[in-house]
Amino acid sequence: MASDCIFCKIVNKEIPSAFVYENETLVVFKDISPKAPVHLLIVPRKHIRSINDLTAADQPIVSELIFTAQRMAREMAIDTTGYNLLFNVEKGGGQEVFHLHLHLTGGYGTK
Ligand code: 5GP
Ligand code: ZN
Repeated sequence: MASDCIFCKIVNKEIPSAFVYENETLVVFKDISPKAPVHLLIVPRKHIRSINDLTAADQPIVSELIFTAQRMAREMAIDTTGYNLLFNVEKGGGQEVFHLHLHLTGGYGTK
């Protein structure tokens, strides 16, 4: 837990936020400023700054992020129309919150 990290505060429920899904490894919630009709953030409970900071021990977390994205896409019914998965990495890569998170965006349909 990083005391000044907004996603740690959300994960620990210090800031109220409705989770779309949660398990012992991660939580999923809606992006406050959605860039697509569906925009979810898949966030590990563990504070990891970015993809750069992953270690081999974090492999199960990374795997769970991806499989949760697959599951969420199916549950939001955007799996067949299509979606994007995105990790922004550090400031030059567009990262603004320095707690690892996977963006799931989609829902535009096919037309
Ligand atoms: P980044 O640019 O770091 O990859 O993405 C951070 C995302 O977190 C942004 O899309 C932003 O809208 C979202 N965000 C920032 N603060 C909050 C918050 O307090 N609650 C929620 N639900 N999303 C947030
Ligand atoms: Zn954090």
